Amino acid sequence: IKKIGVFTSGGDAPGMNAAIRSVVRTCAYLKIECVGIYRGYQGMIEGDFKTLDARSVNNIINKGGTILKSARCDDFRTKEGRKKAYDQLTKEGIDAFVVIGGNGSFTGALLFTQEYDFPVIGIPGTIDNDILGSSFTIGFDTAINTVVDAIDKIRDTASSHNRLFFVEVMGRDVGHIALNAGVGAGAEEILIPEQNLGLERLLDSLKRSKASGKSSSIVIVAEGDKIGKNVFELKEYVEEHLPIYDVRVSVLGHMQRGGNPTCYDRVLASRMGVKAVESILEGKSNLMVGIRDTNLVLTPLAEAIKAHTEIDEELIRVSDIMTT
Ligand code: ATP
Repeated sequence: IKKIGVFTSGGDAPGMNAAIRSVVRTCAYLKIECVGIYRGYQGMIEGDFKTLDARSVNNIINKGGTILKSARCDDFRTKEGRKKAYDQLTKEGIDAFVVIGGNGSFTGALLFTQEYDFPVIGIPGTIDNDILGSSFTIGFDTAINTVVDAIDKIRDTASSHNRLFFVEVMGRDVGHIALNAGVGAGAEEILIPEQNLGLERLLDSLKRSKASGKSSSIVIVAEGDKIGKNVFELKEYVEEHLPIYDVRVSVLGHMQRGGNPTCYDRVLASRMGVKAVESILEGKSNLMVGIRDTNLVLTPLAEAIKAHTEIDEELIRVSDIMTT
């Protein structure tokens, strides 16, 4: 292996830059050339490459987003598109790549390695924490801290006006952001797709909360929640059935994807970048670097994309107890 490509793909996440930096510096340390591939698979197909040396990634460890940009690329979903990508990679002399992204990006990488004999290692970068084979994905810790910070602020205004707030948070089909940030911010209820409380239970809980003397309430709603109503419909439903509440809605949106990565995400990204490059040099391929407990582990890409990480049942119980 003489030249390794690195790119970010799918939704961006804080800490992706720290991972790029780590891959670039590890290559420099091991005297291998590193090529940045811009705009994910789209840039791969178009040959949007730039050699990155150790100094080209100065001062990015602290920055959110991704200096290599990210893109969605429908062309890569086709055999012809992947052939174009392969031709561009071989023309450039790139003989392996590290993909930093989520489920979709790994699915594309897996198809690519099934069609071409090409070493590929994945690094999980997504705020959603939804990838099997890693207890944490890069960006998740930053995102939950951003959400906790936002909810703390919402709580100030909620308690000044005795209001009930429905706060919608990201997370795609899983409730990891909602559950963790909800417990961390002391939310009264947390609605996640893994556990359908039902509308009756929600009303009961809000009634109890009011009766117990709470002056404000925060309900976190995961975007993938399956209670059957979106946050705005929930507001109307609760106002209609529980007129004791003055209800407001806050959809946090894309601010959850931005910001300077936390120390945890920077360290995780640095570790995963080293492991990814070293794994390629050890002749490994088709694997994703993940973390379990405090150890880095490798999981086949085919496994990683199969399912989401399970929700932490113990944390659900803690949340139930805390809302007493
Ligand atoms: P996130 O979860 O943060 O959105 P992701 O990696 O899952 O990240 P996607 O948009 O699903 O994001 O995928 C990124 C890119 O990966 C797509 O634009 C496409 O180029 C490629 N990709 C996704 N699914 C496939 C697939 N089934 N076959 C080939 N390529 C795919």
